[in-house]
Amino acid sequence: MSEFDVIEKVFAPLAGDGAFGLKDDAALLPPYVLSKDVLVVGVHFLPSDPPDLVARKALRVNLSDLIAKGCQPQAYLLGCVWRSDTPTEAIQRFGEGLAHDQARFGLALLGGDTTSGPLNVISVTIIGVPINQQPVLRSGARPGDKVLVTGTIGDGFLGLEAAREDRLADPAIVRSYQLPAIPWGAQEATARYATAALDVSDGLVADAEHLAQASGVDLHLWAERFPLSGHGEAAREAGRLAELITRGDDYQVLLTVPPHKEHKFQAALPADVTATPIGEVVASDGRGTVIVHDENGSPVKFDRQGWDHFKD
Ligand code: ADP
Ligand code: MG
Repeated sequence: MSEFDVIEKVFAPLAGDGAFGLKDDAALLPPYVLSKDVLVVGVHFLPSDPPDLVARKALRVNLSDLIAKGCQPQAYLLGCVWRSDTPTEAIQRFGEGLAHDQARFGLALLGGDTTSGPLNVISVTIIGVPINQQPVLRSGARPGDKVLVTGTIGDGFLGLEAAREDRLADPAIVRSYQLPAIPWGAQEATARYATAALDVSDGLVADAEHLAQASGVDLHLWAERFPLSGHGEAAREAGRLAELITRGDDYQVLLTVPPHKEHKFQAALPADVTATPIGEVVASDGRGTVIVHDENGSPVKFDRQGWDHFKD
């Protein structure tokens, strides 16, 4: 079974009101919206990563879910499993990282659990409130809407690859996987103008497909419009575009807006957050597919669309 088969077959039958059938990024328990992500050593961070950055990443991968839902994050619960040989100093530095991002994003720690075990695992449950009464769901995209994505795509993947393989790697690219540059502040514009949104955690193509399926629409995306960093551009020129958009770890927000609201949406973003138009929403035959067009308009083929924890 794939990760998504497990969620659909084992957990979705147990889902309650406000869970959106376990097909969205967060759940609604009025007046709160809740989301949870787990980070595992060797999967989401490396044993050598600075503990303060691991802590901040654990908060940010959850914050990106609430930003995408147009919610203001308020508080979180924290679960930690530490290997018994973890130095106390590392746990202290982990706490300093939490303090840093708590202050930056206006979060309060409400509780959690601390245990030791065979490997380090960090789990955060984040709690926030919708800015505009209801969370922005994956299911609201309508034909004619524009598709936009915040920030740049592919840096998290390139950063992890560099950290694993390249001892001379540019620290800036390594940093982009250790500490995702989430589009903080975009929750306001998303709440006011987006018809649908989700955060990109599994890969741009896979997450675009999640949005397309939830909304019952197709998404047509143009590869030459994908926003890339300098490192991303170099990778694209080396023929690695497919990896940039199918490997995940971006924590940017993919969203749809009606064309006549795009200008207002852009104007409502903070100065340091970019959102790039990359495609449009088209009526579907029902399946909800994503078609990525290359610069000649031909569909790009992929071996895979995104990260699957049970297959990869
Ligand atoms: P995200 O990438 O936004 O964190 P996921 O792809 O991890 O979302 O999960 C998809 C959906 O499945 C979400 O609604 C999430 O809450 C739900 N989900 C995943 N794992 C579990 C689980 N173990 N129990 C309950 N719900 C789960
Ligand atoms: Mg998500």
